[in-house]
Amino acid sequence: MSNSSEESAVVRQTRVGIGTDRHRLEVGRPLMLAAVAIPSPHGPVAHSDGDVILHALSDAMLGAAGCEDIGAMFEDTDPRWKNLASRQIVDEVLKKIGKLGWKPLNIDLVVHLEKPKLAEHRDSIRQSLSEMLSIEPAAIGMKAKTGEGVGPVGESLVIEALAVVQLMSTEE
Ligand code: MG
Repeated sequence: MSNSSEESAVVRQTRVGIGTDRHRLEVGRPLMLAAVAIPSPHGPVAHSDGDVILHALSDAMLGAAGCEDIGAMFEDTDPRWKNLASRQIVDEVLKKIGKLGWKPLNIDLVVHLEKPKLAEHRDSIRQSLSEMLSIEPAAIGMKAKTGEGVGPVGESLVIEALAVVQLMSTEE
């Protein structure tokens, strides 16, 4: 009983969260990934910029902190969030989890996209996330997978992202 505050401090040290996102692809639309513009024949259909990495990542951070998802936080009927850039969603999420005593420690990402190949953009995506989240690029994993020509990813009907994040307590 006497050391219950010490125990809860240990429990609060790190948290893990997961998030996913999917958008339909349409020819001629811009493709943004982690706020990096990627040259592409197609891009996501979305009210916002349809940045699947930032949407999946935001949900992962909110989940790790025990909060509701970005759909609940940024209801599309709320005029404050009209035309909100995904970068701003991440900033709002960082503020929210920050108030709860959390900050990102490391993240790992998988993007499912048939084309274009993302390997040459991997470093710029990690650099962009590094600046956004104030963590080292070495703490950011980023894999790109094709759909091997089959299914909605393989037929270039959708782009998907999966994010796993570890949060660290900011409390002593
Ligand atoms: Mg989305």
